[in-house]
Amino acid sequence: MHIRFKRLSFEATLVIAVSPFGAWACSDFYAKVPNVSEALCQAAQLRPSGARSVQGRPILVRDLRPLDAHRRVLVVATMHGDELSAASVALHWLQMAQAEPVQTHWRFIPVLNPDGLMRAKPWRMNAHGVDLNRNFPTPQWQRETKIYWEKRTLKDPRRWPGPSPLSEPEAKYLFDEIVRFDPQVIVSIHAPYALLDFDGPVMPPTRLGRLYLDQVGVFPGSLGNFSGVQRGIPVVTVELPSALRTPSDADMRKMWRDLQTWMDKVLAPLDQDTQQASLGGVLPVIPKQTPAKP
Ligand SMILES: [Zn+2]
Repeated sequence: MHIRFKRLSFEATLVIAVSPFGAWACSDFYAKVPNVSEALCQAAQLRPSGARSVQGRPILVRDLRPLDAHRRVLVVATMHGDELSAASVALHWLQMAQAEPVQTHWRFIPVLNPDGLMRAKPWRMNAHGVDLNRNFPTPQWQRETKIYWEKRTLKDPRRWPGPSPLSEPEAKYLFDEIVRFDPQVIVSIHAPYALLDFDGPVMPPTRLGRLYLDQVGVFPGSLGNFSGVQRGIPVVTVELPSALRTPSDADMRKMWRDLQTWMDKVLAPLDQDTQQASLGGVLPVIPKQTPAKP
């Protein structure tokens, strides 16, 4: 009996190891996400990044690298597990990038917080109850996030920054990916505030589709603060109007087009050598004007 049990376990492990990962992701993650057909999810060909959430779920990633790519863009969504539409928009954009890569090396992480998403009732935080968007290493993290959480949010459990910067595997993975991939732009998709936020050293986009620029400020421990302000890698934060419904196909396409137009305007093409080097290096970003950020 014992031997038989062991054999079953082995077979189960084997099946997981050899099955197409997209199928697994599509049945488990994306069945929860609005406006994503199984075909769209399968076509995304998501792969395990190697990183796992607190509860051991793989964080999935997809790279699209056309031969003529001259810039690197990282798209991350559903950092907050209850923002279901964000993962969907990432998958729709991934489909558009597959059809028309626009000389960009894309890296998509449609669900950074799978544990929050996969709860019976999805929630914002990860499985430790941490708001991942307050867990990034910004100056005076211990002091600043504590003051902010206690005084500004009145200890809102939905905004707990965690015990220390990068204490959470999901935030640590994104941090590592930013270091490895060295993107010129990060697009972070959220909901439901219906606006566009921006942190970084270049001219911000004024609109993406129906979303208009409305810079909401800098928060201790946030991705925008860490990447855009501290590291100088622009972060475009897309706040969709609804966490449960995606914009229309036409709206998603218009947002996608506006993103390209903005990138064409503010990003210098990487030369071949820089494009090959994925670590470190000077950011090839041309500041066009003084940033509007206070
Ligand atoms: Zn959010």
